[in-house]
This record gives sequence, structure tokens and C-alpha cells, in this order.
Amino acid sequence: MESILVLTHSDESGEQLTRGSLEAVTVGQELSARLNAELTIGIVSEISATVAPCLASAKARLLAVAGPDFAQPRYASDAAACEAICRAAQPSIVVAPHSSRFARVMAAVAHRMHGCIETHVTAIGTADKVEATRWFYRQRMEAVVTRESRPWFLLLDSGTHAAFTGEAAPVEVEEIVINLSQQRTNVLGSRTPEQREISSIKSSGADPLNCGTIRPEAELLFVAGAGWTKKQSDGKIHAVEAGELILKFLHSSGASLGSSKSLVDQGNDGSPVLAFLTHLNQVGQTGSTPRHAKGLATCCHGEEPHVVGWRFIGERRAISLDPNCGWTRGKADVVYVADAFQVIERLNVILEAQRPALTNSAN
Ligand SMILES: Cc1cc2nc3c(=O)[nH]c(=O)nc-3n(C[C@H](O)[C@H](O)[C@H](O)COP(=O)(O)OP(=O)(O)OC[C@H]3O[C@@H](n4cnc5c(N)ncnc54)[C@H](O)[C@@H]3O)c2cc1C
Repeated sequence: MESILVLTHSDESGEQLTRGSLEAVTVGQELSARLNAELTIGIVSEISATVAPCLASAKARLLAVAGPDFAQPRYASDAAACEAICRAAQPSIVVAPHSSRFARVMAAVAHRMHGCIETHVTAIGTADKVEATRWFYRQRMEAVVTRESRPWFLLLDSGTHAAFTGEAAPVEVEEIVINLSQQRTNVLGSRTPEQREISSIKSSGADPLNCGTIRPEAELLFVAGAGWTKKQSDGKIHAVEAGELILKFLHSSGASLGSSKSLVDQGNDGSPVLAFLTHLNQVGQTGSTPRHAKGLATCCHGEEPHVVGWRFIGERRAISLDPNCGWTRGKADVVYVADAFQVIERLNVILEAQRPALTNSAN
């Protein structure tokens, strides 16, 4: 007989559970109904009474570890809290959101409970046995896993299930008190690069360098490859000019900036660099897998480890001097065999000419 524990945590405000936590509650409820198993929900937050009432209609036993030490993510306190809840609930299956807060500690908690863990779970089936569908190798392979050993921890990818909703009502929460030794890590706050609305960047004339070049909401992903900093037909490198062309294009199009690995790595080996690029811009197997309606690769060869990061890009175009590059081998919808310096310069002129119209229509 299985017993289900859903582990949840509050968001930064401390006033509600995260969306990922509520998705995990949905999964826990479905699972306990299908398996006819007991459901417990564990809460890690500063004040459990603030976040617990939204779980009133979940009809579950509620456990919590609460207090100022649990307001913010910290390895030692989060791992201790999750472990204490697991020891109190003694579950056979633990479902938790794959948030950065829980992903960091859950393998350790599984180890302390002599259990095993699956990460990047997208679905949980209950055909003959409990089965977890999960991704491997940066979302390139999907597998269905089943295990005999318990407790089995399942970290659920966000966005895969509906968030639990229910009328808030008074609830009974069993608080577990744990004695933490003095914490070495004190969270003072968090800092993120300034991200602004694309439309406001477009119309303000602001320098994209100061506006953040990674714009998940943009329609277009513009990818810069290492070719921008290679010797060109005149035998010279034009890295400064390349940087200006790219920034101008980002400025007038509002596109998000991606990069190949070769280009972002160049700073390390003394080659010319584009100062506004960091490893956060890198797209591919060892980089990110962004989602945009369209993508334009420039001066990039289109090798598999790079293009695998384009799997969620809708329409793909590329500008490359090499008629034999990876893009022309079926990886792009349209390839312009052309000099990207010339194409982007011309595009910038066209976009600049359209700018007043864009600005007016935005108003
Ligand atoms: C384990 C592993 C993981 C990897 N992970 C990643 C990853 O996550 N992301 C990633 O990007 N790569 C990754 N790589 C590296 C990848 O295999 C390629 O080496 C890399 O993507 C090549 O980058 P590039 O196309 O920018 O550079 P290059 O291969 O140097 O290609 C530059 C291109 O620019 C073209 N060019 C030059 N000048 C112009 C011009 N004026 N106009 C138009 N075209 C021009 C050239 O013809 C050439 O095709 C990984 C490799 C390994 C082994």
C-alpha cells in the first residue's frame, strides 16, 4: 500500500505557495485517488498559517516546518525541514516541485531517507505499477521509469500540470519543531539583471547593453556565432563593428540574444570577444533551450550540439557564408548564403526606417 507525501514551499513573498508546489499538490491528489493511498502535504515556509488555508479542500493531513529560518532558501535548513517532514509522514512516494529551492536539497533528503530520486518528471502513471515519465540529457531523451525501492522521490517539472485551486478555509496544521545548529549562510537578498519590456526598449532608444539582452518574451531569437569575430574576406577581424551591428539590431528589433558556445568561450582563450555576451546567452546542449516563435542564426555553423537548443524555436533561418553548413543540411527552414555583416547592416537600415512607424503604433 502506497502513501503519498507532497512537499511544498512558499514563494518569495512568504504569503502563498509557489505555482510549482500547487502543481505538485494536483499530482499528489490524483495519485492518492488512483492508488487509494493516504495523502499528506508538507509545507516549508516562514508562517504556515498564512499559506496552509488554500489547501483546505485538498483533504490531506498537513505537516509544516515553519519559522524565520525557513523564509528563504538555504541548503541546511531546507534539507533539515524536508527530512523532518518525511520522517513524520513515513511516505512511500514523495512528490515535490522541481524548483531551484527543492532541486538543490532533494537528492540529499532522499539519501537521508534511504530512498531514491527521479528528477525532471513530467507525468506519473499508475498502470500496473507507479511509473514516472522523465527527461534525460537536457530534454533530449524521455524515459518511463519504475522502481521497487521506497521511498521514491519524484521532482516534478513546472508547467506540466494544473495548479491546485480550492477555497481557502481554516485548517489544522501539525507543526514540527526542529533544532537547527547555527546557520552559516545568511540570505541577504537577491539581485537580478534589469529586464524591461521589449516595447519600452524599442521606443526609448535606450542602450540594449543596459537593458539585458536575454528577453524570454521576445518573438525573435537572434543568435550570434563565432564567425562574427573571425577574419573576414579582407583578412582582418572586425569584432568592434560586429558588436555595434548586433546591438543595433537588438535595439531596433527587440530580439533576444543567443550565442554559440564557441563565441562565448572565446574570452577564455584571448580571442576577440563581444563584451555584452555571457555564458547565460549560450544556446545548445550545454546551454539553454529557449522558446521563441522565430530564430535567426548568424555567423554560426549550426552544429548539432548547438542546434539541439533550438528544439522549441518555431521558424528557423540562418545567415552563413558556408553553403555546406549544418543549417543547410535540414536544420533551418531558410538559409541565406551571404555575408552576415552586409545583411545585418542592410536590415538595420530597414528597421531604422520603420522605427517611427513602430514607435507610433506602440503609442
Ligand atoms: C559536449 C559538447 C557540448 C557542446 N555544447 C554546445 C552548446 O551548448 N552550444 C553551442 O553553441 N555549441 C556547443 N558545442 C560546440 C559545437 O559543437 C560547435 O563547436 C559550436 O556550436 C560552433 O560554434 P559556431 O558555429 O559559432 O563557430 P564555428 O564553427 O567557428 O562557425 C562559424 C561560422 O561562421 C561563418 N561565418 C564566418 N564569417 C561569416 C560572415 N561574415 N557571414 C556569415 N557567416 C560567417 C563560417 O562560415 C562558419 O560556418 C558543444 C560541443 C561539445 C563537444
